[in-house]
Amino acid sequence: MTPKTIIEKQLAALSAALAPIKPEVFTWAEQTIFLKWGVLSRSKFYCLDCNHVWKPSCQNTCAKFTTCPACGGKLKMMPYNQVHFKETEYFAVVQQCAGYQVVRMVISHKHMKKNFLPSYFHKEVMQHWINPKGEVRTFSLSTNAFAGTLDAWKFYSPLEIKPKDFVRNARFYINPFKVYPQIKVLPILKRNGFKTSVYDIAPHLLFASLLSDPIAETLLKSKQLNLLQYYLCASRQNIRRNWQAVKTVIRNKYKISDVPIWEDYLELLRYFKKDLSYALYVCPDNLQDAHDHFVKKKRELLRKKKLHDLRLEIEKAQKKYASDKKRFFGLLFTEKDLSISVIENVRDFMTEGDDLHHCIFANEYYGRKDSLLLSAKIEEKSVETIEISLSRMEILQCRGLKNKPSKHHSQIMRLLSENLYQIRERMKKRKAKTASR
Ligand SMILES: [Zn+2]
Repeated sequence: MTPKTIIEKQLAALSAALAPIKPEVFTWAEQTIFLKWGVLSRSKFYCLDCNHVWKPSCQNTCAKFTTCPACGGKLKMMPYNQVHFKETEYFAVVQQCAGYQVVRMVISHKHMKKNFLPSYFHKEVMQHWINPKGEVRTFSLSTNAFAGTLDAWKFYSPLEIKPKDFVRNARFYINPFKVYPQIKVLPILKRNGFKTSVYDIAPHLLFASLLSDPIAETLLKSKQLNLLQYYLCASRQNIRRNWQAVKTVIRNKYKISDVPIWEDYLELLRYFKKDLSYALYVCPDNLQDAHDHFVKKKRELLRKKKLHDLRLEIEKAQKKYASDKKRFFGLLFTEKDLSISVIENVRDFMTEGDDLHHCIFANEYYGRKDSLLLSAKIEEKSVETIEISLSRMEILQCRGLKNKPSKHHSQIMRLLSENLYQIRERMKKRKAKTASR
């Protein structure tokens, strides 16, 4: 975009006047940021770094790495015989200019081909300009919008200033593989704790945070590097919410072995209302064990709570069920080993559902006004469950294990049909009572 505001115009002028990156920086990159490769072709080793060719001793042809006898390079072996290929890396150059912290991002390609020395290509693709308040403005080359990949730069396009929120665009978030070691930073960054390392954090993100966020500054100064990385780079983190615990960690110089697990663990401590300023809890000797301990404890507690809730629910349902269906209680039809009786307890709905693997409990059949549920048993063992419609005085369902009929099905149906009149009579009695009131 064209620079519009005074600051954008100032930055554009500064960026244009910035000296090009020196050749020695590229030399450093060529030696530092790439792997060295070798390839096995027609039973000879080829060093793709120095061009040396040699015959391998028979035992090491399938090793992942081998050492070139000429240049001494530790060569990663191409897994298959590829004629030529390219490696891509990013590196950063950290400078300061006119009171700004500048992070220059360079993409580097290394082209390799059997029997040729490697060739390199370097191009500065981005510049982050960070002011002492930690505000970032970014210059960038254009990209092939539809390519969707990070490295789709248009190398012939100029570095142009981008809109303010560009730096938050995940597509352009690049953490360089290496930072050129001659780092020049603003004095305020040194004051805020920066020494020489960026600790694998994208430099522009680290600098902007150190200039604008006291949490980042505190974590760096207290050397809580795990926490700092996690705080700045994890897509979901709760360092701010857990600040009290973090302070406990800092005070005790505790090293967190696994920050996501630790944050999980803090949630558990919170659940059990433990004091998060107490090192005994917050800084466990064995984090994994402590975490697992509370997970188990919580699981047990939830299970107990569930059972307790279920018991209460059943008690409540039982009262209503008894008042609705009491007049049918005690009904029992028998024939040889077979007995059919009205289910009198909500708890028995649960047992019946568990024994026969159907849903009369889960779907709360005990709450159905028009239904009467009976259980058919052979020698005290449930074989089928029957639902009768009270208004129509007919059998709605009669189902056994997993809703299938049992081998006693026809006997059950017959015995029921013969005795439906008993249910009808109890209905009538109730009606007569109601009428006489
Ligand atoms: Zn070599």
